[in-house]
Amino acid sequence: MSVFKHVEFIGHQQVCFFNDERSGLKAIVAVHNTHLGPALGGCRMWPYASEDEALTDVLRLSKGMTYKTALAGLALGGGKSIIIGDPRTDKSEELLRAMGRCVNQLGGEYIVAEDSGINVEDVRIMSKETPHVAGVNDSVNMQGKIKNGDPSPATAYGTYVGLCTAVKHKLGRSDLDGLKIAIQGVGNVGYYLAEYLHQAGADLYVSDIDEAKLARAKKNLGATIVHSKEIMSLDVDVFSPCAMGGSINDQSIELLEAKIIAGAANNQLHHAIHGEKLKSKGILYAPDFVINAGGVIDIGLQRTGASPDKIHESLTNIANTLKAIFCRSEKENIPTSTIAEKMAEQKFSTTQSA
Ligand code: NAD
Repeated sequence: MSVFKHVEFIGHQQVCFFNDERSGLKAIVAVHNTHLGPALGGCRMWPYASEDEALTDVLRLSKGMTYKTALAGLALGGGKSIIIGDPRTDKSEELLRAMGRCVNQLGGEYIVAEDSGINVEDVRIMSKETPHVAGVNDSVNMQGKIKNGDPSPATAYGTYVGLCTAVKHKLGRSDLDGLKIAIQGVGNVGYYLAEYLHQAGADLYVSDIDEAKLARAKKNLGATIVHSKEIMSLDVDVFSPCAMGGSINDQSIELLEAKIIAGAANNQLHHAIHGEKLKSKGILYAPDFVINAGGVIDIGLQRTGASPDKIHESLTNIANTLKAIFCRSEKENIPTSTIAEKMAEQKFSTTQSA
């Protein structure tokens, strides 16, 4: 396994490998870019099949965080960490505290938060060893209710705002009444998003590999359950990927009937070329790292003591960023994904040379 020659390593400032024999911790922290501020990103715990797979994942995710924080207008950079292991069987207080000490060794260059396999409570345990954590404090949300550090509701709200912006741009509609929307994955973010869409009058079609989550969406939101293999080929207005990455690929693009792709999943495009292919097919793509930035906006601004109103304002600003991307994409005849990357790169490299 080569690190420096790894195709995803380009642009990274620092990659640290940690080993704690007592707790069994094997972790990687990747800091992609800190030109706009310390690198913020979640810690993922996953039973990776190989160290190569773990390294590829953390490098891709940390780079994505730099782009996300830059376009969200935050004074933060991009980083990510992974723990190799099964969260159901390998997680312990000792292991999480060891991870906290690893984060602490980086002296604030990297700020850890939750991600798949690591929840808010786990990050609280890490915080016994390091102050460099985010999304662990209870805060007052936009409805004035106390909420824990879970970023999913804010991610869902930002995705909802972004989806409405895409509908307005592509279909010229200011409402979602009767619009057909297919959601792939009704987990944390997907379900909160489905609630917003249901309230706005959309007809929901949902797929998931977890029967209980499907039953909840059907019972509470009247969603139509669709087999996982069919969700992408439905004749709907919007396809919303809210499960794992890579769902937009050579095979699925052929099947897509939706006019818009607007969802929360990270790394939706299997390869950059798929942004081009979506454009050629006339499908409007809301770039993932722009539309799903709500969670990082929420926990990033909470750290600065921002008020719920200020956080709400920043979440709704996702609409303006997307509008600018959609318009520039049309004007320059370049895919939205490429435009979004260019805009982010301009932000974090301008500061570099300042
Ligand atoms: P989650 O694990 O709660 O939900 C994912 C759901 O997808 C689960 O219900 C799972 O059963 C389902 N799923 C898995 N494979 C599937 C498949 N092949 N077909 C259909 N459903 C499938 O995770 P989440 O926190 O809701 O995050 C969802 C996505 O959004 C992820 O890609 C995540 O990286 C991204 N994201 C999340 C946040 C956040 O705040 N949680 C922020 C930004 C991006």
